[in-house]
Amino acid sequence: MASSFVTSSMFRFCFPLFLLAILLTGMNNVILVTDSNLGFASNLPYILLSVAVLLCHTFRQGRMAMVSVTMLVAYLVIQVRLQTPLSTGTTLLELSLLAALVPVTCLLVYAFPDTGVNSKSMFLYALILVLFMIWAKLIVSHFHAGGFESWSEGLLFTVRDFSKLPFVLVLYSLCLVGSTAILVLVYNRSIDVVVYSAILLASSTFIFFDVQYISSTMFSLSGTLIIIYVMSASHDMAFNDQLTNIPGRHALEVDMKHLGRKYSLAMVDIDHFKKFNDTYGHDIGDDVLKLVAGILKETTGGARAYRYGGEEFTIIFKGKHTEQVEEHLQTLVSEVHNYDMTIRNAKERPDNHDEGIKKRGKNGQSAEVVNVSVSIGLADSITTKHPEEVLKLADQALYKAKKTGRNKLCIHS
Ligand code: GH3
Ligand code: MG
Ligand code: MG
Repeated sequence: MASSFVTSSMFRFCFPLFLLAILLTGMNNVILVTDSNLGFASNLPYILLSVAVLLCHTFRQGRMAMVSVTMLVAYLVIQVRLQTPLSTGTTLLELSLLAALVPVTCLLVYAFPDTGVNSKSMFLYALILVLFMIWAKLIVSHFHAGGFESWSEGLLFTVRDFSKLPFVLVLYSLCLVGSTAILVLVYNRSIDVVVYSAILLASSTFIFFDVQYISSTMFSLSGTLIIIYVMSASHDMAFNDQLTNIPGRHALEVDMKHLGRKYSLAMVDIDHFKKFNDTYGHDIGDDVLKLVAGILKETTGGARAYRYGGEEFTIIFKGKHTEQVEEHLQTLVSEVHNYDMTIRNAKERPDNHDEGIKKRGKNGQSAEVVNVSVSIGLADSITTKHPEEVLKLADQALYKAKKTGRNKLCIHS
């Protein structure tokens, strides 16, 4: 399970933009294709977004399901209400309301915990969606009653050469696309990518609404992307360890089948971790696991680290024998040991006042610097070609490291 370029934040940021640019530049061809398959093309977003909702349900991606439902409803509104010219009746007003509400509704998913589709959250979200629609309907009725005939003047002016949408809404859409893009670049969670691509494609639809078949094209693309991201999120869950965010045991088992002839395997185990948990608590123990995983992830020398289970990790070095990786692992042992970890916990101040002041951090909380260590066992494919046996030899070397003082590397010879 090689670490993938396609899941990098930069790729996930650029990919929807790239597809959008291709579709917009090739829009003439899209129009030709859509013209000859009109029935299918105009129903395609319904199909794709419904499949997305079903997949989200299967893989328990509640927040992604919420975004899919919003896109589904938005497309339905476009098809039912906005198929008349923008200059007639309330069409432009309804488009503007949709352009204002769809991004907000997509962003609202962050207020909900990421539970399954059949949850209370989903019901609450649907309720908010209905309330938004009622509110929009009231505004449109108010307009009919002569409430604000000149609404598209003043602040809501339009730069007609660019978009029929009021300019302030164009700016609003761009700001929200920009903000969600930052979320993708900083956090790169699957939900960030789904929200970002949905807002990007919905906003493009609203901004370029006078382009023929823009809504079926953009909403089909949005449905396709959600399907890709929900599959990618479930793949991550199966192969990545959720606590440490490095590949887990399943990924290790798959990768052990593709090691080639020359490789080394290292087993890494945190020393006295049970005692650490007993002293500082399980949550801080979890932080240590994340810290060690983070250090292992950075290991150079063509290595790939996995969480084997509990406080044990495995590192695969493809194409290398033990003498070629020994130095990396020695550095790793010292790097973990030299890492000062600050533990803050106001409740656990030492009884001794002077010691308490010494240990207290700047903000008045008690702060204690602790260090953990790891023991490593290393073996390579010279003795045996079977990866499971090499792993056993690495485990034996680890046992030796534990027996002879810990915080060290032992190599099977
Ligand atoms: P040794 O130096 O011999 O390896 O001693 P040890 O205490 O590290 O080894 P032992 O196998 O006795 O204990 C492993 C501990 O790791 C026990 C368990 O509480 C802890 N542990 C396993 N998984 C997790 C986890 O996900 N989070 C936390 N916080 N602790 C974990
Ligand atoms: Mg252990
Ligand atoms: Mg241990």
